[in-house]
Amino acid sequence: MIKAILFDCWGTILHAPRLMTRESAIEAFHRTLRELGYEADFTLFREMYLREAERQHREADSDYRELDYVERLRRVLEAIGLEGDAERLAGEIWRRYLDEWPRQSRLDPEAPRLLRRLREAYRLALVTNFPDLPTAHRVFDTLNLWEYFDAILVSAEVGYRKPSPIIFQEVLERLGVKPQEAVMVGDTLEADIEGARKLGVKTILIDPERARRGEKPEGADAVIESLRELEKALENLIG
Ligand SMILES: [Mg+2]
Repeated sequence: MIKAILFDCWGTILHAPRLMTRESAIEAFHRTLRELGYEADFTLFREMYLREAERQHREADSDYRELDYVERLRRVLEAIGLEGDAERLAGEIWRRYLDEWPRQSRLDPEAPRLLRRLREAYRLALVTNFPDLPTAHRVFDTLNLWEYFDAILVSAEVGYRKPSPIIFQEVLERLGVKPQEAVMVGDTLEADIEGARKLGVKTILIDPERARRGEKPEGADAVIESLRELEKALENLIG
């Protein structure tokens, strides 16, 4: 018996296309650096950023603990020769980047009605990877997200990111449901789908390209093009 639905946040019910990808983040960081009066070659900046990101993931992805982006940026700035100002600049670049999230995040047009309808039958939770709790809360305040969910959990709050079982266990506990009583809906295969599946949570992947190709990757119980298809997928899944 399914009692709860867990939703990923960005890419699933919220969109911020100019912030969500690594490449767009690199461009934003580099732009801010220039705005702060520092000329730096973009190709070198990008290369150093990718190197530091890979290094951080190698260390942190054994248990998916939360990542320190200020530390990442500080190391990038040192690597491009800004040792003296690296610490101060890293903090400032990160702060300005975080400020963009409440400005640029938009609720999927399907989400409000869908979430209200689903909440008549299920407990709903939002479970998101985001490295800064106050900023995530500013986004939720701006878009009135609290009114749609029984629980909201941000990785920064628990110190571990999806696909870590720690964050999924915490959200299930807050809802008071067992893994087999929940369905996870998300757009990222590893974090949302494989992570939830390992605990025994059912999963629905939102992935337009895979859905159109009729491709169902391991771990996904269903693949849909958009939120519009969610209720039908739930019906099929739950029977
Ligand atoms: Mg997502």
